[in-house]
Amino acid sequence: MEQYWSGNAVNQNKGMVENLQRYGIIQSRKVAEVMETIDRGLFVPNGTPPYVDSPIPIGYNATISAPHMHATCLQLLEENLQPGMHALDVGSGTGYLTACFAMMVGPQGRAVGVEHIPELVSSSTENIQKSAAASLLKDGSLSVHSGDGRQGWPEFAPYDAIHVGAAAKEIPQPLIDQLKPGGRMVIPVGVLFQDLQVVDKNSDGSISIRTETSVRYVPLTSKEAQLQG
Ligand code: SAH
Repeated sequence: MEQYWSGNAVNQNKGMVENLQRYGIIQSRKVAEVMETIDRGLFVPNGTPPYVDSPIPIGYNATISAPHMHATCLQLLEENLQPGMHALDVGSGTGYLTACFAMMVGPQGRAVGVEHIPELVSSSTENIQKSAAASLLKDGSLSVHSGDGRQGWPEFAPYDAIHVGAAAKEIPQPLIDQLKPGGRMVIPVGVLFQDLQVVDKNSDGSISIRTETSVRYVPLTSKEAQLQG
């Protein structure tokens, strides 16, 4: 919920990444590398400032998350985004994080976005095509699908990493079911006041949940409810 910097001081993707490192939000080389490789500027609407630390409206009552939230989620999921692993991005919006996941799991892995606004599925596909993840979209290790993400995406389950980009009233059971033992889900939970929860599935299938921080996301809901505002 904080904002670490504002204004136009940062006008390049590299400067944004350096700021995230300076504020201690990016802590690993791998997360810095992927955020350097996937230019956030390709994922925000034309004419909006891409490198300021704030969410930006993308239409349909949705927003692209602030850079510090993207970095936080990448850090939390890093161990579960190794080459060859499977990652699911629910409420993939602009496709930014789906593209980051795809770069990290690589061509032998799977990065799957699910978004319920078909227009955002189309525009996110176009964004990804302009980015460094284009070849992964072409070869099929990255895909974005139109659907209700509360049901997950069973086709490529189980997942090592699940990210939910919209706040759930409670954690949807299909997402827990589609998490691999040893897998981790990062999900904002709550209505007005939300917690970013880290859900780990242990090797015996049991679940451990902890709260990372307070956040403010758009709701994980039905398409109709979202479009009504
Ligand atoms: N991580 C994305 C966040 C976009 S905002 C980004 O930074 O670009 C949250 C997204 O979740 C919106 O695009 C919204 O349309 C989508 N969403 C909300 N409820 C959903 C649901 N039930 N199924 C799929 N997508 C959903």
